[in-house]
Amino acid sequence: MNDHHTSSVAPDPHPGSAAIRRFWGRLGLPGLVDVHTHFMPERVLRKVWGYFDALGPLTGGLEWPITYRAEEAERTALLREFGVRAFTSMLYPHKPGMAPWLNGWAADFARRTPDCLHTATLYPEPGVEAYVREAVEAGARVFKAHVQVGAYDPADELLDSAWGLLAEAGIPVVIHCGSGPAPGKHTGPEPIAHVLARHPRLRLVVAHLGMPEYEEFFGLAEQYREVRLDTTMAFTDFTEGLMPFPRRALPRLADLGDRVLLGSDFPNIPYPYVHQLHALERLGLGDEWLRAVCHDNAVELFGL
Ligand SMILES: [Zn+2]
Repeated sequence: MNDHHTSSVAPDPHPGSAAIRRFWGRLGLPGLVDVHTHFMPERVLRKVWGYFDALGPLTGGLEWPITYRAEEAERTALLREFGVRAFTSMLYPHKPGMAPWLNGWAADFARRTPDCLHTATLYPEPGVEAYVREAVEAGARVFKAHVQVGAYDPADELLDSAWGLLAEAGIPVVIHCGSGPAPGKHTGPEPIAHVLARHPRLRLVVAHLGMPEYEEFFGLAEQYREVRLDTTMAFTDFTEGLMPFPRRALPRLADLGDRVLLGSDFPNIPYPYVHQLHALERLGLGDEWLRAVCHDNAVELFGL
């Protein structure tokens, strides 16, 4: 079913891109900034896709077709065609010893992909402070941490000095710490509250709007000025069927409008990219909120 996406980097625009460009054009924006996209070494990405492919048969229900399964060059070309002015290469280790290798790959990817914000990652292990410092000195502008896949406690002492370093450098960390789509041993707001109690200025960007613990993570963002959230997969039909957003929290989401950032999970999404944008639009929070979330907040945060 993905055959039409794997054709070459064609001169014909992708069928979905006109609707995406209409979305930001109507808002008077020069394009979008997407803080949550995945680029990683080919064999890691194949494994991730394999995981999603196996979901249907394994769970006997939940199908997760990868809409944008394509070669790397085609994926970056697609984002440009969508009008995504800046994006990230979210990658994350699931075991010790893997982060420095991923960071090396991400630094090289950023060098050959000028519109990608140089991304790095970390894991609780001896030496983490040194390679985080090295990545920062090499120009990393955003980090990714995945508490569920990594199966570690973000408040682990081994990470303490790395969090301190990142807080001091003001470098945002997109962190998958909510218990969706499946809970992990250390997911949920409590471990993050411990990290923030020690590092109140750490610029955590709670991925997926913290789903399904939306309101608890809103609470942390309300308490800590530097905490932000990304919209990745939130409010889509797919997610609303599994982890519905509580409507009573809409006014809080409106008030947090200067700290919510567009994220998509491209290319690993089970629907067309434009659906994420329409899912935000149909919340009815207005054009000013949409402009901030889809572009302006990230421009300010990353100095674009
Ligand atoms: Zn993701």
